[in-house]
Amino acid sequence: LNARMYMKEQAAATGEFIASLAHELRNPLASIYSFFELDQAPDQQLKQELRAEVERMLGILEALSAVKRSDAPILPHLYQMDLVIRQAVEVMQPYAEKHGVRIQHTVAASDVSAYGDRSLLMQALLNIIKNAVEASAAGDEIRIRIAPAGERYLVIEIQDQGEGMDQEALEKIYEPFYTTKENGTGLGLAISRQIIEGQGGHMEVSSSPGKGTLFRLFLPRKAGVFNLPSNRVHRRNERAA
Ligand code: ADP
Ligand code: MG
Repeated sequence: LNARMYMKEQAAATGEFIASLAHELRNPLASIYSFFELDQAPDQQLKQELRAEVERMLGILEALSAVKRSDAPILPHLYQMDLVIRQAVEVMQPYAEKHGVRIQHTVAASDVSAYGDRSLLMQALLNIIKNAVEASAAGDEIRIRIAPAGERYLVIEIQDQGEGMDQEALEKIYEPFYTTKENGTGLGLAISRQIIEGQGGHMEVSSSPGKGTLFRLFLPRKAGVFNLPSNRVHRRNERAA
């Protein structure tokens, strides 16, 4: 019965998601369409606006292919969290340097093994670190720390000294397409949360405007901690039952 209710919720969420996706793509497409109806050649300004719209749509589609991947069956395994963090930092390094931002990471746990899908978690980490860089000013630092959170979870803390968010913004950050950026997709955190909860983890965030933001990602240290199962974990459980 629980599983059936969950599936219904999922279907409703999917319907809502598709409706807002359609909404997001309609406006830029309409302005691009009007481009073809112009009698004279478009000026430089309009060209740039249209270009920005196309880029935003491509960004959304790019992020959506990540959603598709994040919906692939989870193949959970034990992996070493410090290696994943190190790799994520390496990938983000050039982007951080471009913004004049330093990324530091420390390991405050002796056992850093985690149980889940390493490459999916990597995607979530990249989204969250990317946001931290984008919120930061040149000279700021991003601190990433791995620590134990009880026996069952590892926590990854990602702290920036950037612009921060007020309460109203904090309530919307996981909504698909919520963005405050000119070229944002608003999908990064929605996808990251789906990934982390799909592995039996959860996320917390605290932030204050002008001071910075702290994301805390809780991830299971061993098998059997799936407390918030995704649809695919359900299916697996049903088959096993
Ligand atoms: P996008 O980055 O494309 O805007 P996200 O889903 O990644 O979409 O983030 C949604 C919004 O949450 C961002 O536009 C920004 O307003 C806010 N946000 C996310 N991370 C941070 C952060 N570290 N500091 C300040 N604001 C953030
Ligand atoms: Mg983002």
